[in-house]
Amino acid sequence: MAVKRQLSMVLDLNKCIGCHTCTAACKLMWTNRNGREFMYWNNVESQPGLGYPRDYQNMGGGFDADGALRLGRQPSQEDYGIPWEYNYQEALMTGTDPWLRPHVKPTWGANWDEDQGEGDYPNSYYFYLPRLCNHCDNPACLAACSRNAIYKRQEDGIVLVDQERCRGYRYCVNACPYKKVYFNEQISKSEKCIFCYPRIEKGLPTACAQQCVGRIRWIGYRDDEQGPIHLLVEKYKVALPLHAEWGTQPNVFYVPPMSPSKYAADGRALDEQRIPLEYLESLFGPRTGEVLDTLERERQVKAEGGDSELMDTLIGFKHAEMFKLS
Ligand code: SF4
Ligand code: SF4
Repeated sequence: MAVKRQLSMVLDLNKCIGCHTCTAACKLMWTNRNGREFMYWNNVESQPGLGYPRDYQNMGGGFDADGALRLGRQPSQEDYGIPWEYNYQEALMTGTDPWLRPHVKPTWGANWDEDQGEGDYPNSYYFYLPRLCNHCDNPACLAACSRNAIYKRQEDGIVLVDQERCRGYRYCVNACPYKKVYFNEQISKSEKCIFCYPRIEKGLPTACAQQCVGRIRWIGYRDDEQGPIHLLVEKYKVALPLHAEWGTQPNVFYVPPMSPSKYAADGRALDEQRIPLEYLESLFGPRTGEVLDTLERERQVKAEGGDSELMDTLIGFKHAEMFKLS
């Protein structure tokens, strides 16, 4: 879907420390009330893992190889995790209950399987994967909406739900393969990440990027040849979309994680990455190995005292320079 300009984000998974500050920033700003309590427009999940909502990668949606829209299934409330409250009054104020207890028994939530990962010691592994709406070039949510309530802004490609037009049919929830549209039962309308457009319009980065402790997020326009997005996505080609095979053409890209060496049973370090390449390819596609080779090569140049524009960019010396919003 052609737009005048497209705002994009790159996230370097080598730098994410899983602190969830991005999630907290987003939640406090947009989704901590009024039927949105279960929603995490930005979430951080451990991979390998089931993700949020639980097992979303097997719920379908997106487009098939011929470009036909696929309606997947809608997650249940249990798949998202039912939000709970604590008995603060009884435990902390009146003292009528000695224990702080949740009001429902928690059974699942965003990143419930935190840090479980895969593999056996000493070759166990996991990494963090922050996820948000991809503000896709070919949004399945938009294609599925029979009310034309979902639109992509011409000036920056941000995908939004028109709350006046939405009638809560939820086709968008079914169709988004990333499950990044949510149904608010309190108002019977769908809601999603708005890429913090009120901040973007003031020249400020999204809250998740602004607050990111690991400085893993760059924001800018795809067509800005001097900007970080162009450098990482087009020039060095080290940032890849998640599940490109789902056909929505995401505008959020990931620098895939490198990993420590695997160890043999006798303790020798092997010349093999601990996170299996096939697994990373299942997320980021067939170019993943090539990207990891580029990262390793450039890292070596930098380690030996040479110049590397790519490594200097990935280090992100100055946080403010990671955002180019004009
Ligand atoms: Fe729509 Fe999902 Fe793409 Fe966001 S990630 S634009 S909700 S299809
Ligand atoms: Fe990762 Fe940054 Fe979010 Fe922390 S704030 S979890 S480092 S993306």
